[in-house]
Amino acid sequence: MPRSLQVINGVEAMRTAIREVQRGGETVGFVPTMGALHEGHLSLIDAAAAECDRVAASIFVNPTQFGPNEDFTKYPRPLERDLDLLRERGCEFVFVPEAAEMYPAGYGTSIDVGAVAVPWEGVARPGHFSGVATVVLKLFECVPADRAYFGRKDYQQTLVVKRMAADLNLPVDVRVCAIIRDADGLALSSRNVYLSPDERRRALSLSQSLRLAEEIISGGERKALVVRERMLALLAAAGGVNVEYVAIVRDQTVDEVATIDGPVTIAIAAKVGTTRLIDNVRIG
Ligand code: AMP
Repeated sequence: MPRSLQVINGVEAMRTAIREVQRGGETVGFVPTMGALHEGHLSLIDAAAAECDRVAASIFVNPTQFGPNEDFTKYPRPLERDLDLLRERGCEFVFVPEAAEMYPAGYGTSIDVGAVAVPWEGVARPGHFSGVATVVLKLFECVPADRAYFGRKDYQQTLVVKRMAADLNLPVDVRVCAIIRDADGLALSSRNVYLSPDERRRALSLSQSLRLAEEIISGGERKALVVRERMLALLAAAGGVNVEYVAIVRDQTVDEVATIDGPVTIAIAAKVGTTRLIDNVRIG
């Protein structure tokens, strides 16, 4: 019989609920989300449930991590469905704050994590990581869990959160979990609902280009330039895929490599129609 799900809107009520659990000697795992939940999010709930006594999530579409021309207003918000999914997976607490409580009138504080937030997504989405780091720190304050779970799908975001947690001595263990994909390889994303059937077919080229890179590298290619060119050719052939970057970086960093002589992460961002998609793979 699953325990019931408590939906909590207030910061104080949320903190009290988590602290009470911890006073009883139990650990809490926390999964921050923007809602529109899919199996990618739910895999994080499962990971938290496997490693912690109790699971908490948050659903908050954070305005400060969206650029002025991005999809904040149209971002999907199927709250009742999300709550059902969380309940089914054994999540016991979900923090669903009001924007007015997260950002009180006159707020001015923000977190700058430095170099790791600068390239790639940092260039494509100015201010994004400051918005992410600030809201994640705030969420950690509201849901003071023992461990927090993030998806590798947002590779650079995981580096930003880990950097912040280390730099600010945060008392939370940041865990990173694998990317969950549809059977055809498309990385699950709340934004996939924006794709028309035709765009969705073209979007498969992202994961296909990452698989191609894996093949080329396991075949012995060491020059990042060559791998990148082959990926770009595949992406161009798909048509209608507007590549923002293909980053070949030393794994666990944002530093581009010229020669592939150790573990790398290859990260892609591209627009298919008006939908911005990201994906990545670790190789080596
Ligand atoms: P979001 O709701 O997009 O902010 O995502 C909340 C968390 O779910 C983040 O840590 C994401 O990296 C993670 N996530 C999103 N999509 C996936 C996926 N396909 N596989 C694994 N984790 C994911």
